Amino acid sequence: AVVVAGSLGAFSEVIGDLQRAAGATERLLDLLSTETDIASPENPVALPDKISGAIAFENVDFNYPARPNQSAMEQFSISVKAGEKVAIVGPSGAGKTTVFQLLLRYYDPLKGVIRIDDVALTDLDPVEMRKHLGLVSQEPVIFSNSALENIRYGRPDASDAEVMDAARAASAHEFIKELPEGYNTYLGEKGVRLSGGQRQRLAIARAILRNPTILLLDEATSALDAESERAVQLALDNLLEGRTTLMIAHRLATVLKADRILVMEAGRIVASGTHSDLIAQGGLYARLAELQFGGEAALDFQSQAAS
Ligand code: ADP
Ligand code: MG
Repeated sequence: AVVVAGSLGAFSEVIGDLQRAAGATERLLDLLSTETDIASPENPVALPDKISGAIAFENVDFNYPARPNQSAMEQFSISVKAGEKVAIVGPSGAGKTTVFQLLLRYYDPLKGVIRIDDVALTDLDPVEMRKHLGLVSQEPVIFSNSALENIRYGRPDASDAEVMDAARAASAHEFIKELPEGYNTYLGEKGVRLSGGQRQRLAIARAILRNPTILLLDEATSALDAESERAVQLALDNLLEGRTTLMIAHRLATVLKADRILVMEAGRIVASGTHSDLIAQGGLYARLAELQFGGEAALDFQSQAAS
């Protein structure tokens, strides 16, 4: 267990997603080692310590190896500027999570190129490249360990004070202080069970501590009570600040944080624009907004139109 501690931190947020994927056990083992089944090039391009965080997908086609005849992504192209916030929305199975899997280089495209800071991912060492990315998954893993150590997985060499600063920025400090033994309270299976909103804020604290240039946020679909919702949105504001962000969004408050929204269907981008552009177009986005955000979307559109 000691040997894997470092890589556990780097990949802890990925595990939740992959546990739900086919072949989860093997994948989990892969993540916990520093090995990866994606080959590193013989002479990888070295990224600087501080990258700018631009992302490009150029005409990417992709099928999952387990379903070679089903296209998961077709002629997919996006260009995201350093620091830009892009929301991805679309029905279940549209390929939203696949965008993240390819960017994290768990798979390579069949056709096309994916670049970070103008360098093709295939020219980079995948382990080095992933140090610049952070993922907040839909259902973050809470380890059987203290609250303090659960956040420290984000960056194993962080001091207690740094962990607590991250918790404050993630609106998690207050609820952690209220736990029976504060930051020393055991969480996870044999410890205190956190609410959905508390788990999300803990995952956000980990990501703030990790401080990646590129952030991938797969927003939880579960409904939160109003107070948790406000706390999570405040935490997200702090997390997104200054980072290139791709966010799979299920809430109106989150899409409204984006500079641009991409609408995906069947592995393709079918529309893009701001929330009000897309509502006005009245296509798939307007229908999704009605389903996912309910009356919220219509209300917000009216208030935007009125102001
Ligand atoms: P979304 O996140 O938009 O719900 P996904 O990106 O998870 O969609 O999935 C896109 C398509 O790829 C779906 O048809 C899904 O069933 C398929 N898929 C996702 N993961 C795998 C996998 N590991 N193996 C095979 N097919 C997969
Ligand atoms: Mg998904």
